[in-house]
Amino acid sequence: MAEPLFCAGGCINGPGFPSEKNSYQRKQDIIDYAAKASSRKNPELDRDVNCITGFLQDKTASIADNVSEARINEILEKTGKSDPELQLNCGACGYKSCRENAIAVACGMAEPEMCMPYMRRLAQQRTDRIIETSPNGVVILDRELNIIHMNPAFQKMFLCSNGILGRRISYLLDADNFEKLAVGAAEQLEGIRTKYGVKYHEQVYSLRDEEQYVGIFSDITKAKLGEGQIDLIKNQTLIHARELLAHQISFSQEMAHYLGKSTAQSEELVTRLMNLYEEETT
Ligand code: SF4
Repeated sequence: MAEPLFCAGGCINGPGFPSEKNSYQRKQDIIDYAAKASSRKNPELDRDVNCITGFLQDKTASIADNVSEARINEILEKTGKSDPELQLNCGACGYKSCRENAIAVACGMAEPEMCMPYMRRLAQQRTDRIIETSPNGVVILDRELNIIHMNPAFQKMFLCSNGILGRRISYLLDADNFEKLAVGAAEQLEGIRTKYGVKYHEQVYSLRDEEQYVGIFSDITKAKLGEGQIDLIKNQTLIHARELLAHQISFSQEMAHYLGKSTAQSEELVTRLMNLYEEETT
């Protein structure tokens, strides 16, 4: 069967066509020819066509016979499946079992990277390595804001060790940004703070699916603050001022309690404003 293209540049405009006919005439020629040809008997169409189907022998089965157990075990080990319990046989690679996949890899018919759990493990290892070698401090908290992981840079920055794993982050640092994440007030927050003589930029965000919170900390003690960072501190101060106002309104009925707490928060606000003023004048 031929399907002629009638478009410009298609079959009827090929270089072999005589130029004395325009494309409409050429198109009509083909239509006329097709009508005539269809009325003619085509001996080719009278031939019997063999439509018998059947199953062929699975080639991998015969090739697999030539793959040694040692080679299969080597591939299973390379992809972290030497222990039979780790052979999930999930079929995500397209093979029925991890062993079949290993045989196919040995025969050059598959790649180890086709194993999804293996690739996931590799990605996880890479992520761990990036976190462990990062110059920024990284801390991971559980849903109760307890520390479950700190990278070496974080421990160095805040002079702590794995001995405080399991303790609340507020034991070590100002935790208000993490607390806002925990109550769902934000998904991501940042700020500039000073603690233990270290001035640091803090960026925190939540991993909702894992019910975990991540904090990334950069030591900016020696960095000169730029315009953007000063703006950030100003914004923080404004936010704190608004929080203070909201606090005053909602607790206006509880004067005694209000006076004590309000004074403390006002002090903090004034301290921040003074720090801001000092930073701008230095
Ligand atoms: S994807 Fe990996 S774990 Fe799953 S069957 Fe294939 S080789 Fe085994």
